[in-house]
Amino acid sequence: MPTTKINEAQTNWHSISAESSLEALNSSTSGLDSSEAAARLAQYGANRLPEAARRNVLIRFVLHFHNILIYVLLGSALITAALGHWIDTGVILAVVVANGIIGFIQEGKAEKAMDAIRQMLAPRAHVIRGGERISIDGEQLMPGDIVLLEAGDKVPADLRLITAHGMSVQEAILTGESVPVEKQTKPVAANAPLGDRSCMCFSGTLVVSGQGRGVVVATGSHTEIGRISSLLFEVETLTTPLVRQMGIFARWLTVLILLIAALLLTYGYFVGQHDFADMFMSVVGLSVAAIPEGLPAVLTITLAVGVQAMARRHAIVRRLPAIETLGSVSVICSDKTGTLTRNEMMVASVLTRHHLFTLGGEGYAPNGDLMLDGAKIPPSEYAVLDELARAATLCNDAALHQKNGVWQAEGDPMEGALLSFAGKMDVDTRTERVTWARTDAIPFDACHRFMATLNHDHANHAFVFVKGAPERMLGMCHNQRGADGKPEPLNSRYWEQQAETIAAQGQRVLAFAVKAVPPAHTVLETTDLEGSLTLLGMVGMMDPPRPEAIAAVVECHHAGIRVKMITGDHAQTAAAIGREIGLQNSGKVLTGADLDGMDDRELKEQVLDCDIFARTSPEHKLRLVSALQAHNMTVAMTGDGVNDAPALKRADAGIAMGLKGSEAAKEAAELVLADDNFASIVAAIREGRTVYDNLKKVISWTLPTNAGEAMTIMVALFFGMTLPVTPVQILWVNLITAVTLGIALAFEPTEAHTMRRPPRQRDEPLLSGELIWHIVFVSLLFLSGVYGIYNYAIERGYSVDLARTLALNTLVAMEIFHLFFIRNIYGTSLTWQAVRGTTVVWTVVLVVVVAQFAITYLPLLQAVFATEAIPFLDGVLILAIGAALFAIIETEKQIRLAFRRGRKG
Ligand code: ATP
Repeated sequence: MPTTKINEAQTNWHSISAESSLEALNSSTSGLDSSEAAARLAQYGANRLPEAARRNVLIRFVLHFHNILIYVLLGSALITAALGHWIDTGVILAVVVANGIIGFIQEGKAEKAMDAIRQMLAPRAHVIRGGERISIDGEQLMPGDIVLLEAGDKVPADLRLITAHGMSVQEAILTGESVPVEKQTKPVAANAPLGDRSCMCFSGTLVVSGQGRGVVVATGSHTEIGRISSLLFEVETLTTPLVRQMGIFARWLTVLILLIAALLLTYGYFVGQHDFADMFMSVVGLSVAAIPEGLPAVLTITLAVGVQAMARRHAIVRRLPAIETLGSVSVICSDKTGTLTRNEMMVASVLTRHHLFTLGGEGYAPNGDLMLDGAKIPPSEYAVLDELARAATLCNDAALHQKNGVWQAEGDPMEGALLSFAGKMDVDTRTERVTWARTDAIPFDACHRFMATLNHDHANHAFVFVKGAPERMLGMCHNQRGADGKPEPLNSRYWEQQAETIAAQGQRVLAFAVKAVPPAHTVLETTDLEGSLTLLGMVGMMDPPRPEAIAAVVECHHAGIRVKMITGDHAQTAAAIGREIGLQNSGKVLTGADLDGMDDRELKEQVLDCDIFARTSPEHKLRLVSALQAHNMTVAMTGDGVNDAPALKRADAGIAMGLKGSEAAKEAAELVLADDNFASIVAAIREGRTVYDNLKKVISWTLPTNAGEAMTIMVALFFGMTLPVTPVQILWVNLITAVTLGIALAFEPTEAHTMRRPPRQRDEPLLSGELIWHIVFVSLLFLSGVYGIYNYAIERGYSVDLARTLALNTLVAMEIFHLFFIRNIYGTSLTWQAVRGTTVVWTVVLVVVVAQFAITYLPLLQAVFATEAIPFLDGVLILAIGAALFAIIETEKQIRLAFRRGRKG
């Protein structure tokens, strides 16, 4: 196929036929071949909308100075300059700039983390290339590509439909109309408005039902959505309710402190008759000391670190508040297939009217032995197997490929397993699909639990093939295929009993049926099927549990988290898998029909006792979430289909499957699992608990530090004493060292026993009585430490500058020891593990220690900060004070923990 320049300006695709569109695009129903696709990629570029323009780097940097405290500091710099205190001016300006740079770097890191996450959510598209069904990155789509669409897909480019079966699309994003529009393939009037172009699908819209395929007519900014707006991506700010609350708290605190500072200045100058310059510097010192200006930035970094840690564990956070919610999850409602099980299916049993065969093999490879009563037999001996295999091939949307010698399924793994089964029955699936062209289809839907196709051959024969859940299929059949190939009356009891036996082994059972129709019949309706099909047989598919899911369920139980399986599968299959997975109450199963028979009150009563819900549909999931929430539980719910969206939205933490999930489910969810694995949910919960703990640690470390420093200055001002630490020194400690040390807590690893604790209550206040007590207690200790060493120095006859240097270093030493204490808020800090710390902790401690040595011993900095070299023994004393602080708060914590344990015990 030669590359031709396609007229990108052409916009009348809706008024020409599908065939003409294919021709104009120089494509065909078997799609582009790979060399043509590569050539077009070079010609048209990636199918990507221009990204929302980022703010200019300079503006982003300058914005870090848009902060009340910085304005106060800049004002102070001006005033100190006017007063001729050049050193103070220099220090203030240097600190302001350094603080801006640190904030800018931190923000850059956080944004990078979020960008990487967004990349991981890039959608994929199912296309036909060179006659083969493959899945590619949505960005690789080219005009002329043939795209397959099904319910739940987000349309990846503008398409002219070639086929459409029961297809409806939600186009609100383009037309504002929230009612889905039905799609078909015939051309419409050239002047039809966008909403009436029913033979087109537009990029960014959502397929709500049905199936279809279309040829790409426009990509990237040439699509309708691309024309309307180039700012499609809303850039989410890195925040959660808690961090926002703390931001607001910090802002009000700032205003309050500035007010107090202004009052003090006025009082000291006019009433106390103090020197204005001294008084001014003192209140600036007080403001800097008391305001937790670094806190919001450190909290943001903590979130970014958490988001990255979750992504490493295959859990991609779509909405940031979910990080907090995940930490408090008390029940996980999980799908079975693919989440608790591997979703690598293989047909292991084949049931016909007279026989139950077993089938061997490995993976999706289409070869394996057919066994009957322990003996290997050729499939050709049983004609019904051939018919069963044909139904399995034609009523099927998957494809099998061999990649590096390994057979892989493209599409639904269950359908891949059916193609492998057909191969084992010696049916050539490619030839079958060419011979029996599909004319129409009723796609699978979790609500009706079957799929049907209408197929015609070239010799004027037409058949409907149907596959689905056994009980649903038995309801649609009126006879069964007999041994002689003729239909005979249906023996429902036989099939039901056999299906139960297969299901009790944990196998997923699927039934197949057929119906001959007149060749003129080209449109398939559900009414064509009811009560008129001939049952061919059933297959049982093995889908073993994931070993890591079994371990994760145990971990959940230790962590006080209930696990419930909510599946569309058969009750027996679900119960068998539930037992293997280790669900607590795997003896009791409620089915969708049972749930339908209960009102909300009854369901609320029963929901806690039952851990397995089978044959449920998406509406049941919604009711179950509500019933669990009525018990005040925090519910995490998984989902993959388009109809799961309401339940995902309703759940406290909606979790969509990244591999088998639809775009609709992903958009409704807070979290997307890159590997669909249950163990990743549990890893995300562990990370969620860790992030919450770390946010708490950052706050518990920062607030007492600020309060302690502020009290030091306040006490001096109130009692008219000399300041034990100068305002410039406070500026140094607070804006440089404190932010550096605090950052270490953002990187804290999960504490031991984190998953042995019960879940946190969702409404647990962060500023709890315990935290307020900690702030008061530690601030008082800081105060005693600083004044203690200052008075000791003065009594020994040291100069005021040396006494201040001692006080300053004591303050920093206490901050460092406090940091080591805060790292373990639930256990003891006196383990080797706790002392050994992490690389991040020791790096920041090293940086701060070097910085302290520099301002204490380097003559140039001594001149700036009015410091003096500290004698060795006094250095030891400083360390001893830090250690004493540690010992006191650790003892207090142990008493508190013992008291709490005693109360519980
Ligand atoms: P889970 O909800 O745990 O992922 P599930 O995949 O079994 O479980 P559904 O996808 O709702 O749930 O399937 C429900 C039932 O519908 C299956 O047990 C099977 O009998 C039938 N079924 C599933 N997929 C198809 C399909 N593609 N064609 C026909 N029938 C299907």
